[in-house]
Amino acid sequence: MSAPGPLQGAGATYRGRFAPSPTGPLHAGSLVAALASWLDARAHGGQWLMRIEDVDTPRCVPGIDQTILQQLAACGLHPDERPEWQSQRNTHYQRALDQLIASELAYPCGCSRKDIEVALAAQGSGKPRHGELVYPGTCRNGLQGKPGRAWRFRTIPADFQSNGSLGLLDIAQAATKNIASISAPLHWIDRRLGPQSQDVAQAVGDLVLKRADGLWAYQLAVVVDDAAQGITHVVRGEDLADNTARQIALQRALGLPTPLYLHTPLALGPDGEKLSKQNGATALNTATAPAALQELQAAASLLDLPAATDANISVCLAQWTLAWRTRHASE
Ligand SMILES: [Zn+2]
Repeated sequence: MSAPGPLQGAGATYRGRFAPSPTGPLHAGSLVAALASWLDARAHGGQWLMRIEDVDTPRCVPGIDQTILQQLAACGLHPDERPEWQSQRNTHYQRALDQLIASELAYPCGCSRKDIEVALAAQGSGKPRHGELVYPGTCRNGLQGKPGRAWRFRTIPADFQSNGSLGLLDIAQAATKNIASISAPLHWIDRRLGPQSQDVAQAVGDLVLKRADGLWAYQLAVVVDDAAQGITHVVRGEDLADNTARQIALQRALGLPTPLYLHTPLALGPDGEKLSKQNGATALNTATAPAALQELQAAASLLDLPAATDANISVCLAQWTLAWRTRHASE
């Protein structure tokens, strides 16, 4: 029996990626996303790229990027192109911010965290979302004499057409800039989780693009890099699903394409929470080929793939690619 060809409609155009943060070595949880993204690229006959997400430099551990690349190589997961490092891409993020400023979709914010807490308390709402405060919009219409500290993305409320409360951006401008396409709520279809939607303006508010400490925000970097790397399919852990609407809003504001998304199940730690360094996830054991295969098998099981029937990693990866291709044939 000959091997089936690439899936319909993808083929050479498919470009996927794995984008770890070098804050620690890969553990069982991160291998699930790595394996799933690799299998999806292989099943579609596409390319699998790597991006080291070291944009939050104070959290990164020197040398861990090389450890991660070695761990992946030991598992037979080799990128098809030279990896990218976000820390080397500042000019690209600045260009994107400049574009948003020119479109009046980014504005400077002079608020400290304390200022935001006070403004929210005055509004009678201070509910943090995953520990993040929803920005009350204090600087939307100007800094009022305060020095700018950060840059924020101007989210567009779903009801802007009825009340016109857009701040600097009036409805006439909105019409010419096709603002309706980035106004909330955003809808998209996750390949595993199904139809999703989020009102970004209401749920997240005007997100930070460049932080007060001068570092680029994760959301902007991801959107710029996915476009620069020509990513067509994002396969990543379900803990990142909640970022998708923000990223789609930024893609639309920057005139960039939106990839397809698939969020994988999470490996859970002994406390039932997502497996992470904080709840005791240890580095993958890739010291020997049998150990690496055992780690891969655990990741494959979580992805509902069959048990490996061979001691050779390449053979097992090929078997899982066939199983993945069968399951995702229509995507
Ligand atoms: Zn502000």
